[in-house]
Amino acid sequence: MVEQKSPVKEQILKEMQDVVGHNWVSIEPADCFAYAYDMTTAVHFLGTGNAYFVPDYVVLPGTVGEVQEIVRLMNKYKIPMYAASHLTNLAGIHCPREGGVEIDVHRMNRIIEVNEEMMTVTVEPGVTHGLVRKEVEKRNLKMPCLIGPYSGTLVGHCIGWSIPAFCQFGMEDRIVTLEAVLANGDLIRTGSAAVIGQENTNPYMRYALSPTLHGLFLRSVGTLGIVTRITFRLLPKQEVEEQVHIGFDELLPCISFMRKFERRQISLYHLAWSVPAIAHPAVPDISVLFNPSELNKHRELFHNWTDVIGLTGTAEQVKLYKKYVKEDAAQYGGEIVTFPDKVKEYVESVSKGGSSKIIRGYTPGVVVGGVYAKFDKVVPLCKLINEMAAKYGLKDPLGGEPYIVPQLIVPLERGTVWYVDFDPWIDQEDPQKNQSMLMEVMGQLLTSYEGSLLLQNPMLEPLLMPGFVNLWKGIKNVIDPNLLFGRGYR
Ligand SMILES: Cc1cc2nc3c(=O)[nH]c(=O)nc-3n(C[C@H](O)[C@H](O)[C@H](O)COP(=O)(O)OP(=O)(O)OC[C@H]3O[C@@H](n4cnc5c(N)ncnc54)[C@H](O)[C@@H]3O)c2cc1C
Repeated sequence: MVEQKSPVKEQILKEMQDVVGHNWVSIEPADCFAYAYDMTTAVHFLGTGNAYFVPDYVVLPGTVGEVQEIVRLMNKYKIPMYAASHLTNLAGIHCPREGGVEIDVHRMNRIIEVNEEMMTVTVEPGVTHGLVRKEVEKRNLKMPCLIGPYSGTLVGHCIGWSIPAFCQFGMEDRIVTLEAVLANGDLIRTGSAAVIGQENTNPYMRYALSPTLHGLFLRSVGTLGIVTRITFRLLPKQEVEEQVHIGFDELLPCISFMRKFERRQISLYHLAWSVPAIAHPAVPDISVLFNPSELNKHRELFHNWTDVIGLTGTAEQVKLYKKYVKEDAAQYGGEIVTFPDKVKEYVESVSKGGSSKIIRGYTPGVVVGGVYAKFDKVVPLCKLINEMAAKYGLKDPLGGEPYIVPQLIVPLERGTVWYVDFDPWIDQEDPQKNQSMLMEVMGQLLTSYEGSLLLQNPMLEPLLMPGFVNLWKGIKNVIDPNLLFGRGYR
């Protein structure tokens, strides 16, 4: 942390003002404190002794050139840097673990191009995926599902979190090329956009040059630099889009059905929610969440697992696909379910991603965990997560009963790889308990359950082969020789 109001701090502030102008940089505590939060209410759980992570400076560059100048300046003074866009993540992954500067890309918010022929959208980092969705639909294109609020950015999703709720086309395959200011201030573009002079005319080819560098940035959570532009491949809009809901009492038949259906290769998206995971976002009125008897009645609308499938195509295709859903579901004891109007509307919008109703599932604050697993590990893994919640004595913050962890399951890549999302509440009185529980669960998932974790975590490094760790550290050292970007995360 830089000392409050020291001459050095004043000097750095002045140099930043020279780059972005007086209005776009601040050291005021009220401005800085805003970055100690994400979309949950419980980020302070990340700090030691409930401390918040607050930056010393906040800067909002308006152009790529300004980003480069700020990054070079921070390297001169060796100040840690953290990227931020709309702060809608759920794990405090933008929070400045070691003070320094928060580089907020809000102001870079142009949709540069929607290209119908290439089925792409090219955006700056401050553009929300809600806006992209709205704009591309005017051109017969469609944005794939991203779970999370529409106010999150497309870039933040890809770089920060990016859980592919979209089984048919994993998110990784949607990024075509990107542009980034590296942690040392250099500018790079990937794929065909790396050819000098073609950054605007041909950013459409991912595999134009090797290696396929954009992959480095996926889930890099701002540890390599600032992504300043992304070209993202969209989907064609179809005549009909419909969502079907199937209830299962047990998880194994549910995922067996999902696997079978995925191999028909027709779903637009596919996921299964446990009761708390879907019932809470789908309450017809928020007051139900705080009324135990109403909430229990509402929960009874749901089977233990609600499978959701998005279907799309011509009316004739969708009719046929629904017939397959019915046949396959019956084979595994699943039942097509219907919900009361409002509940149906919320189940649909939350399952498509982006709905603000998802927040209801996360009140008053969770830690989000996720893991990729093989089919045969999904059931034991879901069981382990609840056993751990019991072992650590997590209580439901609303009713006080033993806590059943909300879970979401997504069959990726045609049901070969399974994403399991689990969201334990944060025990506000003893946040360390959640931290310990998550660490124990993650450790077990990685080893005993052969799972694959989403994000890098230095604490898990002893479990990784030295060659992998050395290569990753080597890349980081080249891009960020002063180890400033995302310090504390890597
Ligand atoms: C209730 C809720 C549920 C959600 N569920 C899901 C889910 O199931 N699946 C899912 O994928 N997402 C989910 N999310 C959303 C997701 O976590 C964020 O919306 C997403 O990370 C984008 O957030 P953002 O644009 O606001 O970025 P921020 O929150 O500001 O930043 C996210 C991360 O990206 C980095 N970053 C941001 N911009 C840049 C940039 N230009 N260059 C480099 N690094 C950058 C930051 O440093 C940080 O590490 C959920 C969010 C909420 C609120």
